[in-house]
Amino acid sequence: MINRAEVVVDLNCIAMNISKIRAVAGVPVMAVVKADAYGHGLILVAQTAIAAGAQWLGVALLEEAFTLRAAGIQAPILCWLAPPGSDYLAAIRSEIDLAVPSIQIYEEIVLASQLAGKRARIHIEVDTGMTRGGFLDEWETFIDLLQASRDDVEIIGIFSHFARADEPGADQNSDQLKRFTQMSDDLNGIGIEPSLHHLSNSAATLIDAASHFDLVRVGIAMYGLTPDRENLGSSNSLGLRPAMTLRARLHLVKKVPSHSFVGYGASFQTERDTVIGVVAIGYADGIPRIATGAGVLTHGIKAPSVGRISMDQFVVDLGPDSTAKAGEWVTIFSSSEDGGYTADDWGKASQSINYEIVTRIGSRVPRLYLPVHS
Ligand SMILES: *Cc1c(COP(=O)(O)O)cnc(C)c1O
Repeated sequence: MINRAEVVVDLNCIAMNISKIRAVAGVPVMAVVKADAYGHGLILVAQTAIAAGAQWLGVALLEEAFTLRAAGIQAPILCWLAPPGSDYLAAIRSEIDLAVPSIQIYEEIVLASQLAGKRARIHIEVDTGMTRGGFLDEWETFIDLLQASRDDVEIIGIFSHFARADEPGADQNSDQLKRFTQMSDDLNGIGIEPSLHHLSNSAATLIDAASHFDLVRVGIAMYGLTPDRENLGSSNSLGLRPAMTLRARLHLVKKVPSHSFVGYGASFQTERDTVIGVVAIGYADGIPRIATGAGVLTHGIKAPSVGRISMDQFVVDLGPDSTAKAGEWVTIFSSSEDGGYTADDWGKASQSINYEIVTRIGSRVPRLYLPVHS
């Protein structure tokens, strides 16, 4: 059987990006592998990142952490989105570090520690201004509670998350940094000094050394993608190599006359006699339905998508002189170096960002891996 579409992940790029990030960070790196490693494949990416010198793995869900442990990965793992009622007992038994953003979660984790007969390893999550995860209104009460129960758990870290790290000039960044230092001081005030303070995501790791503390949590940059092309520059200018290429086959190539309407809703009409290609991938595979202004690379030429993206396919204008043939591969996105479209271009074409483009490529698209060069 032939594939009609494939994601090709170059693990060598992941390894190179980790090396680059380690050099910039100057502190240990947590490779963030949530959401199936941003669509790149959880286990192989995690193994590659560890082999390249990342010391920690970060995930959102407990299921993700259990999958890593089941694959035999022994590196420390932090999990930060296990809501009340989660199997904290299994997490403690599997040596998975847990984020604590609320008293309710703290109390459930303490209970699980007692059941396990083993102290949970926790990272206290504080809300320094993003108004999403972490302690805010309960902070004082939690400090009192910790003072009374600190021996029930092992306090490994304190952490927070930036809302606007990709906007270097924003005041909110220095405000969050200040608040983070204050909340860390509050802990020190009751004699608790976690060994790991961590605040930086990819953007802050790349541009704000003052936020690095003891560990940086890096997602998008390890996949070779820029956290924000407008404010931080392209992958290329940041010295990163995009690891993911998405390609699909041309299902059909045909001549169509000028004034032909293309696709559902007839949102596009050809303005000349041309050749169109039908690409065998669609919104069920994660190509956003609203995308306009991106397309494919074929025979070294960019062919824009025309009309709406359908569930399993979309149409590109190959141009009247195209020599493309049905059955050939076309590249939907890749590194900018081959002259085609990038995940950034598809993000922009969809009023979204590269993060959403790569994480939403569906499980219907097989992943192929290029190994790390030795
Ligand atoms: C996703 C996530 C990261 C990684 O963010 P990037 O911008 O991809 O580097 C870091 N920390 C937390 C808490 C996250 O949820």
